[in-house]
Amino acid sequence: MTQPTLFDVFIVGAGPAGCAVALSLAQTVPGLRVAIADPGRSTPFRIGESVPPLIKPFLDQLGVGAAFLQDNHCPSFRTVSAWGSPELVSNEFFLNVHNTGWRLDRARFDQTLLNAARQQGAQRLPAQLHTLSHHAPYWHIGCGDAGDYRATYLIDASGRTALPSRLAGLKPINHDRLVASAVFFGQTDPDLPNADAVLTEACPDGWWYTAALPEGRRVVALMTDADLTRRLKAKQLAAWQQQLAQTRHVQPLIGNARPLAPPQLWPANSRYLHGPARPDLLAVGDALSCFDPLSSQGIIKALRSGLFAAYALTDYIRRQDSSGFTRYQALMQREFAAYQTTLSDYHRQEQRWPDAPFWQRRLG
Ligand SMILES: Cc1cc2nc3c(=O)[nH]c(=O)nc-3n(C[C@H](O)[C@H](O)[C@H](O)COP(=O)(O)OP(=O)(O)OC[C@H]3O[C@@H](n4cnc5c(N)ncnc54)[C@H](O)[C@@H]3O)c2cc1C
Repeated sequence: MTQPTLFDVFIVGAGPAGCAVALSLAQTVPGLRVAIADPGRSTPFRIGESVPPLIKPFLDQLGVGAAFLQDNHCPSFRTVSAWGSPELVSNEFFLNVHNTGWRLDRARFDQTLLNAARQQGAQRLPAQLHTLSHHAPYWHIGCGDAGDYRATYLIDASGRTALPSRLAGLKPINHDRLVASAVFFGQTDPDLPNADAVLTEACPDGWWYTAALPEGRRVVALMTDADLTRRLKAKQLAAWQQQLAQTRHVQPLIGNARPLAPPQLWPANSRYLHGPARPDLLAVGDALSCFDPLSSQGIIKALRSGLFAAYALTDYIRRQDSSGFTRYQALMQREFAAYQTTLSDYHRQEQRWPDAPFWQRRLG
């Protein structure tokens, strides 16, 4: 019987975090046999689109800064929010050293990263990990009809599913029950006031955000808790539109634009993966920690953790130095703790609905 194909590093998930690991390893340990497995997307829309100016140095570091600029994402110079008051307040990126953020065509962004990883030698496998076991010295990875594989090191970049880590016994701890009920719209008017900005607006059951996307599309999402979506009927377009009609700043940006599909629910809760570190299994991006979309930090965090995980793995492969893994874990835990502090400070700025369950849970 032939043995399953062997890789040095098997990356589960071809989102920003997985691609960042592949791109960084190609720079630090050229010649490694790296696989990047992902079954591909089943939905036409991809959520997660606003990135702050600081993303550019990370993309440059990964060698994809120029390709990114050629992809015609929408530049963005500010965010506006009605938070703590019904009035909109603008936050300009003008004074940042890097002063251009972007609203991404998310599918194109992810594809550019994956193309670059493949150009640097990573082998893309259209495969979904289903089973996992470890028989020293290898991980045995079962991908159903897409085949079985072996690998020395496994990277969990599978996003919120964190399946490889969970199969290995690690546990994600949820910190809240936030979900997004999101609708994508076709042609919206780009010349309306604030049409260029990412806009957030708090409401009694949570908050809304909207951002104009490339090719005239716009994403609009109601962020609320999973149990509240049932009362709000947030999966039904008519009920969702009734909620939208009550907003002061989001609705005018939609006007009569046509929804491209009914609302889709996306988990958006804050979460951290706990468990002992092991040198042959590293979680990166959302598989390790999930941030509230309010932060607009998910993608940049995914790239950063992919880079740092690759550095830790490089030290181990080159010198059997495992101190990088401890540093990586400590850094990621500190990052999550700092994020939690910032998030609760931000929630405390909204005091208008102290009796509403969504806000009670956050202000209590
Ligand atoms: C409503 C909402 C709005 C958001 N808005 C923003 C925003 O404006 N800005 C921002 O920066 N971030 C935002 N985010 C967060 C951002 O999208 C994520 O943080 C980011 O995509 C994480 O990247 P990742 O590579 O870790 O995971 P992902 O991008 O989720 O990629 C994981 C990949 O793993 C694959 N995969 C999963 N399971 C398996 C398996 N078993 N085998 C093989 N492959 C597998 C998936 O197909 C997927 O391609 C938002 C999130 C939500 C929910």
